[in-house]
Amino acid sequence: MAGKRLHHFLLGKVQGDLGNKPVPRDMKTALQGLFPEELQSLCKEIGQPAFRGRQLWQWLQVRHADGWDLMGNLPQALKQALSATCTPGPARLLKESGDPGGARKWLIGLDDGESIETVLIPARERNTVCVSTQVGCRMGCAFCASAKGGYARNLSEGEIVAQVQAVAAVLGRRPDNVVYMGMGEPFDNYDAVLKSVRILNHPDGLNIGARRITLSTSGVIPGIRRLAEEGLQVELSVSLHAANPELRRRLMPVENKYPMDALLDACADYTARTKRHITFEYTLIRGVNDARENAEQLAGRLRRFPCRVNLIPLSPVEEFEGAAPSRSAMEGFLRVLEKRGVEGTLRDSKGQHVDAACGQLRRRAHHT
Ligand code: SAH
Repeated sequence: MAGKRLHHFLLGKVQGDLGNKPVPRDMKTALQGLFPEELQSLCKEIGQPAFRGRQLWQWLQVRHADGWDLMGNLPQALKQALSATCTPGPARLLKESGDPGGARKWLIGLDDGESIETVLIPARERNTVCVSTQVGCRMGCAFCASAKGGYARNLSEGEIVAQVQAVAAVLGRRPDNVVYMGMGEPFDNYDAVLKSVRILNHPDGLNIGARRITLSTSGVIPGIRRLAEEGLQVELSVSLHAANPELRRRLMPVENKYPMDALLDACADYTARTKRHITFEYTLIRGVNDARENAEQLAGRLRRFPCRVNLIPLSPVEEFEGAAPSRSAMEGFLRVLEKRGVEGTLRDSKGQHVDAACGQLRRRAHHT
């Protein structure tokens, strides 16, 4: 399998050729993925009054409950009837690992035995949760551990929301920001991702402001075009990582399917349509994409629409030989961008994206 995956990469193919996999039909419905009205209908279907649906929502979305036994005011008959097909605990915290930068990562167990990871990044008074959207990833970016662990399936909207709720339960309050930068490609699982956004944003639930929710894509154009029509104020990040198609193809096989020129056109349309800027993620890899010419080229391509660039030093990954540039080289790169009129920020190695991005905890769990 590893050989086959490598083969795919060398051919520059997205693992999408292997097919997008839905949530298995025999899995219980994750209750965190239902709107209040849907919970009410569910209760009515089993002969319970609709207001029980409201109570359920309250437990799940406001009080972060993940077990039937916590829901004291619900009748046993209701819990029993629902538990045949639904679960209030679709995402269980299995193992925590901290890092010196203060991020807390959890390996999360799903009902079918698969695992993902979720990260909490505390920064000043703001807590940011980084969620996964798929078990593994099909995109096959050269430097990203998520794809190396293999792709198993999409997450349901409930499994996505439940990650945030699990962290909220640990914190004892709602997180401030949610970034879709964990394992997986959000726009390869568009419907579940968008529904999870609407639930997190729901005024009667966690009520996380749309502007505090960031969707990050490797450049899946149809997703960008659909998002532009949603009328949501969410933040959009696009992972670029290279300033020309040739280099991008080496790092990101998705370039073959959604070429950079078409991608940047879609981004320009998005900013025009939504009046919102885009953040471009650019992981700096020493000797690969960190030269002055790269910065000049990048600025040249991005100057035409409102955006900013987030420079991220490469976080070491087992299967990828590469290193982050020196701090001064990264600062130099940033200065070139800024001199050419493109705004940028430089994350330190403790920055949120690095801690969140790489799927390394799941990899380790698979190896032990
Ligand atoms: N699939 C989505 C979201 C997940 S990754 C996307 O590609 O945007 C979140 C960010 O972390 C992406 O920009 C990704 O390219 C980056 N990333 C992945 N592995 C990394 C690594 N080893 N070092 C630094 N950034 C990495």
